[in-house]
Amino acid sequence: MPESTSLRVAVDTPAHTTVGEPLTYLGDVALPAGTLVRVPLGRREVAGVVWSAGEAPDPAMEVEFKHVLHALTSLPPLPQRWLELVEFTASYYQRGIGEVALSVLPPELRKLDDGQVRQRVARLHKALTAVPAAPDVAPQTAPTLSEAQQRVLSELSQAASQAVAPTVMLHGITGSGKTEIYLQAAAKALAAGRQALVLVPEINLTPQLEARFAERFAGRRIVSMHSALTPSQRLRSWLAAHLGLADLVLGTRLAVFASMPRLGLIVVDEEHDSSYKQQEGARYSARDLAIYRGKLEGATVLLGSATPSLETWQRAQEGRYLRLSLPARIGDGALPRVRLVDMNLQPRVKGGAVISPPLLDALNQRIACGDQSLVFLNRRGYAPVLHCGDCGWKSACAHCSVWRVFHKLDRTLRCHHCGYTERVPRACPDCGNLDIAPMGRGTERLEEQLAELLKRPDGTPARIARIDADSTRARGSLEMQLGAVHAGEVDVLVGTQMITKGHDFRRITLVAAVNPDASLFSSDFRAPERLFALLMQAGGRAGRDAAQAERSEMWVQTWHPQHALYAALRGHDFDAFAATQLDERRMAGLPPFSHLALLRAEAKTAEAARGFLQAASRLAEGDAEAAGVTLYQPVPTPIARVADVERMQLLLESPSRQSMQRFLAWWLPQLHHERQARAGHERILRWAVDVDPLAI
Ligand SMILES: [Zn+2]
Ligand SMILES: [Zn+2]
Repeated sequence: MPESTSLRVAVDTPAHTTVGEPLTYLGDVALPAGTLVRVPLGRREVAGVVWSAGEAPDPAMEVEFKHVLHALTSLPPLPQRWLELVEFTASYYQRGIGEVALSVLPPELRKLDDGQVRQRVARLHKALTAVPAAPDVAPQTAPTLSEAQQRVLSELSQAASQAVAPTVMLHGITGSGKTEIYLQAAAKALAAGRQALVLVPEINLTPQLEARFAERFAGRRIVSMHSALTPSQRLRSWLAAHLGLADLVLGTRLAVFASMPRLGLIVVDEEHDSSYKQQEGARYSARDLAIYRGKLEGATVLLGSATPSLETWQRAQEGRYLRLSLPARIGDGALPRVRLVDMNLQPRVKGGAVISPPLLDALNQRIACGDQSLVFLNRRGYAPVLHCGDCGWKSACAHCSVWRVFHKLDRTLRCHHCGYTERVPRACPDCGNLDIAPMGRGTERLEEQLAELLKRPDGTPARIARIDADSTRARGSLEMQLGAVHAGEVDVLVGTQMITKGHDFRRITLVAAVNPDASLFSSDFRAPERLFALLMQAGGRAGRDAAQAERSEMWVQTWHPQHALYAALRGHDFDAFAATQLDERRMAGLPPFSHLALLRAEAKTAEAARGFLQAASRLAEGDAEAAGVTLYQPVPTPIARVADVERMQLLLESPSRQSMQRFLAWWLPQLHHERQARAGHERILRWAVDVDPLAI
């Protein structure tokens, strides 16, 4: 029998307990940190990760520690740096170590015993090592680099040769050749015997990127990691990375936790994208964790974007990140000309003009010469609300504080927040008026109107395709619709912002934003930043082919043509936009010049949620001030009620990240007690903290 010793094992303890630290078990001396094990927890048997050796059990103590039941010893332990990444994530985002560790491992690992794991590993070795190695860059596939690309690559390799691995912001407009930089940086890392991790914001973008990497690195093993994989595919990718068999890992935010023993490069493409922020459990930012992980592993971190987040931009300005830029499109492709349509000057049409006459003309011209156009509106459905002109009734959701959206195709009113769906009433439910009408418009209505207004040269209606969450629900339908666009079977593509991301449309020469103004005056301080990124990205869809670049245009319909954001957009001037935004943020004490956290509470009534937040606030009285943290009054969240649950939030702000961290670590454990102790009060359902929230 091997000698027994005490081990600290990270397990996923239930969220309502205050225990976030690894628990002590008795186990085999030989089990190193990072070994996956199964241990008893209460009446259950759960998966865990050996975190470290424990203290020698004190014979005087009357505590009986339980024994580790099973260990996956045929799997190499998780690397120490991976454990450090998880520990940092748990402490920074205020969650349990075991909760984070187990949630980022493939779920299949929890089910298999050591024998099964041994089989999987053997099979994987056999499958992957049967591939004959080929040279990395087949000479005919590596393109000639532009001067700007050469400069970026030489600065990059210079920076990478320094003692400290650099964090690099790569600012490159769409079409400037960022992907080629990623490919070459990856080639370098691979040539040095290391692994590369490439993160993208959306699953839809992985096949495209995977194809490009696969073409370039024909002899290398590439795996992908994202939530659309089956559990066994996910385990296979994970094992290939963990065992060092895969050289390249491509994936969405979860992949930032891939166990990679030889990691040498992390690319975060579209680093500004909000998809990098996890919105439940540990609300981590994969972009921020990538930067931290790069430091841990001595790996270069490349943050690429045409519109960097203002956090990244500011850090590059301060010299904390290396700033590299690709200012021009490859092959001298020009950026689209930006045209603002002043909606104040357009004729008023009953129900509100959606497409102004000049835009309509421009669209018809494109159709006449065989070009394609892309028109986007960030609202799906037919109309955002149905309305009775007689009594003022509106199609409110009975369970949420939002309107239900009118979908004309199936004659339903649907709540986009809780899913509550009903047939459209024949008459106003309040007064019986038969004339209830849609107000405003969504993509369905836009599609319908464009089909009425646009004609092909032979007089037949224009071919309109709509791409949004409704039209792409069926598996494969997105691919099919995109295929039709690429094949030239579509004249005008209508959709939500879904169509503005990444897709490489070759025949599109006109992109139009129909109604983007709402974000200019939003209460969310990041709304203008998101709008600017969206418009730049959308504009980037036009004129991808140099032959068409000359006539490519980006149209924006606006009631506020004088707004500084649009002026910057006209000049494709991200620097100017960033400078004005950062000035405003500095004056208002907002990120990146301060650090925020949100405490959210959910309850059946607003009073209960507010009561909990007020009690939490009272607990912090004095201490918060001393710690340099400001607590604001509890307020309802932007959508206060969803599915009959009321949601309130309390904002915390501090000029110092460390102060915020220290304060949260002291404060949050007390809230667990507070929640239990509020016996005399109506219970809250949930509470959670969001560190560095994206929206407030
Ligand atoms: Zn009515
Ligand atoms: Zn609802």
